[in-house]
Amino acid sequence: MKHFTIPFLLILLLSLCSWGIWGHEHINRAAVFALPMQMRTFYYNHVDFITVESTGPDMKRSVYNDKSEGPKHYIDIEGFDRPLDSLPRTTADKSKVYADSTLQKLGSLPWQIQDMMAKLTKAFKDGHKSEILLLSADLAHYLGDANMPLHTSLNYDGKLTGQPGVHSFWESRLPEIFGNSYNLNTREAKYIDDVTKETWRIIKKSHQLADTLLAIDRKVRASMPEDKLYKKDDQGNQLKTKYNTPIQSDEYANAFHTALNGMVQEQMKTSITAVADFWYTAWVNAGKPDLNKLDDPELTEQNKTPLEKDYEAWKKGKVVKLKTDSEY
Ligand SMILES: [Zn+2]
Repeated sequence: MKHFTIPFLLILLLSLCSWGIWGHEHINRAAVFALPMQMRTFYYNHVDFITVESTGPDMKRSVYNDKSEGPKHYIDIEGFDRPLDSLPRTTADKSKVYADSTLQKLGSLPWQIQDMMAKLTKAFKDGHKSEILLLSADLAHYLGDANMPLHTSLNYDGKLTGQPGVHSFWESRLPEIFGNSYNLNTREAKYIDDVTKETWRIIKKSHQLADTLLAIDRKVRASMPEDKLYKKDDQGNQLKTKYNTPIQSDEYANAFHTALNGMVQEQMKTSITAVADFWYTAWVNAGKPDLNKLDDPELTEQNKTPLEKDYEAWKKGKVVKLKTDSEY
């Protein structure tokens, strides 16, 4: 699994953009509305930043070429020397057990989430507005990744089971095609008693879905003629994404999405709930600081009516239409 050539690795790093831009932006934006009123007003004042910065952590690796960033987005559970339930829970425990070089290979997502949570809590305590916003958006990104099943598996792109490309197919292509029909309304944020436990609960649940997701894809592939799986141009050549991977046909995308029976929407909603819960918990643990003091009252006043309108739309499952960069 780890004998990749350099060009292949580069392509992989670029193409595995976690949820994809569509997914991350919608998760972050929708989470703002799941917050209680004392937080919602402040987050809505900065909702465009929270939305766009949702892919900031991916850009650290793809645009800034930060080599230390990649492993923070995944955990290859099967690659570790012990089962998921026996992995060290906290960052401090993890450092006693595993060398950085191991985590650089196998990923450190659950610990990254906990580290970001501690940083966000501190930013709330300190009343640092820009840090609160940046850390909120970035933490939301990692929580979104944790709810993408293939971010928790060694077989993250289906290569071990003859299903290459399934990663971005599931997380980018399907949301780009079907996402506008999803209902993104969720319950209001709840306080998390034990952040470590909740982080691992999310990882475990997501990991359990990885095999299901891959099995569904195998079944769909087997049910279609080989030459119907990928898009072709008029000359019969396979069309490729900007990352040089073949583009699945609309027929294949439809069949896969139907067979998944709502899994993509469900994982998006689970991500939104997790994001709102974590933001809310960090704020409560910081002593519930008054966030409205961080903005000019005029800005809050200007946003009052748009917030009400967008909140009502979200209650019906919709967020304002976002024009995101297409990855296909
Ligand atoms: Zn990511």
